[in-house]
Amino acid sequence: MVSMGFYKLVSTSLVGIMTYVASMSHPIASVGGINDPVYKESMIYAPILMYHHVAPKIGDNPYYVSPDIFEQQMAWLDEHDYNVISLDQFYRGLYGNELLPARPVVLTFDDGDRDQYTNAFPVMKKYGFTGTFYVITNDIGGRGFMTWDMLKEMVKDGMSIESHTVHHINLAGAGEAETRLELAKSKKVLEEKLGITVKHLAYPGGSYSNLTIKILEELGYLSATTVRHSQYHSSDLSPYKIPRMHIDSDMESFVGFVTGRRKD
Ligand SMILES: [Zn+2]
Repeated sequence: MVSMGFYKLVSTSLVGIMTYVASMSHPIASVGGINDPVYKESMIYAPILMYHHVAPKIGDNPYYVSPDIFEQQMAWLDEHDYNVISLDQFYRGLYGNELLPARPVVLTFDDGDRDQYTNAFPVMKKYGFTGTFYVITNDIGGRGFMTWDMLKEMVKDGMSIESHTVHHINLAGAGEAETRLELAKSKKVLEEKLGITVKHLAYPGGSYSNLTIKILEELGYLSATTVRHSQYHSSDLSPYKIPRMHIDSDMESFVGFVTGRRKD
């Protein structure tokens, strides 16, 4: 299995290995062909995988990954020496000075569905993997959603719980007062009930505006993830526009997304 793996481009000697091209401020010849993408020095390769339900697939609903496929996907990461890192670590690697391990992958889960606790969490524990669970605070404890006790247990076992707003609203269409409430209240209630610091948000449906970003910054959120596909990340890109890879119930597309052979 050939993978791009991950390296910070700290010297031109790495450029050849990585088939990257140096930044415009330090122009060097491309080592690849004309179709090779041009990346700046600040680019890193670190797929952020986005899951929703981990449960038996209903019809062809793309938001379900069956538990046996999920187990195979985690086993594949383990067998192929990928390093599952936390979103915090990813953030420090991209926007700070922390050197990330080779082949970094981030696991994220949206919506706080109970099947994530039942079917994903035990498998992740088995492999020693961490993950970020973006929960809709108004739904916590509701039918089909995780309870506060489940979330507490996951925090204790090294999982990160972050915000997916209070009501899963379309943030691009929301006014200032509503946006502020959705972002502030979800953060506050998670912090109070779980004894954590909430630093990250996933935009419901990937929807946001410049107003959303302005309020996120004011409230002390460090990052927000979108549903735009890319395995590459640049520190030139706003931390409130971080792309992720949607994962479905299929091993072949999973391997393609993780290795970078598949873009979308
Ligand atoms: Zn969602």
